[in-house]
Amino acid sequence: MSSASIKAVRGTRDLLPPETELWNRVEATARAVFARYHFGEIRTPLFEDTSLFARGVGEETDIVSKEMYTWEDRARAASEKPQSLTLRPENTAGVVRSYIEHKLGDTGNLQKLFYIGPQFRRERPQRGRYRQFWQIGAEVIGPPSSGSESPIRDAEVLEMLATLLDELGITGWNLQLNSVGSATDRPRYVAALREALAPIKDRLCPDNQRRAETNPLRVLDSKDEADQDLINALPKIADFLDEASTSHFQQVLAALDACGVPYTVNPRLVRGLDYYTRTTFEFTHSVGLGSQNALLGGGRYDGLSEMLGGPRAPGIGFAIGEDRLILTLQAQAEAAGTSSATDKIDAYIAPMGAAQNASALALARSLRREGLSIETGDGTFRLKKSFDTADKIARHIVILGEDEAATNTYTVKTFATGIQSKIERSALTAALLA
Ligand code: AMP
Repeated sequence: MSSASIKAVRGTRDLLPPETELWNRVEATARAVFARYHFGEIRTPLFEDTSLFARGVGEETDIVSKEMYTWEDRARAASEKPQSLTLRPENTAGVVRSYIEHKLGDTGNLQKLFYIGPQFRRERPQRGRYRQFWQIGAEVIGPPSSGSESPIRDAEVLEMLATLLDELGITGWNLQLNSVGSATDRPRYVAALREALAPIKDRLCPDNQRRAETNPLRVLDSKDEADQDLINALPKIADFLDEASTSHFQQVLAALDACGVPYTVNPRLVRGLDYYTRTTFEFTHSVGLGSQNALLGGGRYDGLSEMLGGPRAPGIGFAIGEDRLILTLQAQAEAAGTSSATDKIDAYIAPMGAAQNASALALARSLRREGLSIETGDGTFRLKKSFDTADKIARHIVILGEDEAATNTYTVKTFATGIQSKIERSALTAALLA
């Protein structure tokens, strides 16, 4: 057997402290903002029946055709067929499955649900693109009578995202949006695209030639430099929208104007997934992400519930790439010369000799129960080592020797001021919080 050490699988990574503190701060801010907009949390399973994604996301999408982690589960009995299971590549399909399964539409109310969790796609790993990555997302879905189809829902979701990015401290984000029309507009547009692509197809890169055949909308997503002029000259979806979709889009834009949320209409933003109708959007950012500059994406999916065998339930949602959000915040902090370093703990207790180890733990216990953050050293450490360690991680060091234990009075040094003094236990908590 090889004795080589085992590493994290390609495209996956460990998130370690102190970086995880930033992750927690981002998630806490997201939860606080979602609560203010009346969203509740949903947690769906990490794996689902493969057919959910084949039907919900679309067989012809890159995600389903190339990127899913799928396996056959062992059958429980010889008579049973093995079930095909898939690690979720995104969370909207799972949320809508759950909405249908639990008959959430029967309440008649609009459902506003958010999730935070890992997703899995077998993409080529690079900066900002991983095979296990995290998404923070939300869905607004309900029967038409709940107002789920209203353009105000789209605008509210977009305005909430602008608020969330502002509160996280992301500066210089750019909201791009478009309308991909209704379930009947889209096929008309796709047919026109196919027609326009046919005579120029041979001049496109091999990837776009394949897309032109399988999923022509994806050609519009292409970043291939050489193909840009040809792509810009293709028909625009705006010219294929029916009156209702056009009016819906105009109302979304007007509501954003009323709220003062800036945006850019991008006629090429059609997004890869089959389920989108009407409003589609992305928030991009130019700092720290390189070519993977989409911080988040989303859109309306008025027909998705029916595609999954459910009742009519229009909806709109988004997924933020949390990994990319973190990279952006780190790049911003670096550019501004501020560190994203974490706060120091309140105190480090240094027992003088192994005999004081238990007293140190007891003192730590009582201080921690009062809410202080404490680390303890070990009686075998030399005093210099204790001071060096404490200086790196704590604001104060508390020396606990035989005398201190006997008199309940401790030697405390505050690193910021360099002042050292003797402090009684009754005054210790306040001193360490100072
Ligand atoms: P999508 O579900 O493809 O619309 O993606 C929504 C957001 O998730 C994107 O804008 C990215 O920020 C993020 N994302 C998608 N795929 C990955 C990946 N492989 N690694 C990291 N983030 C991703």
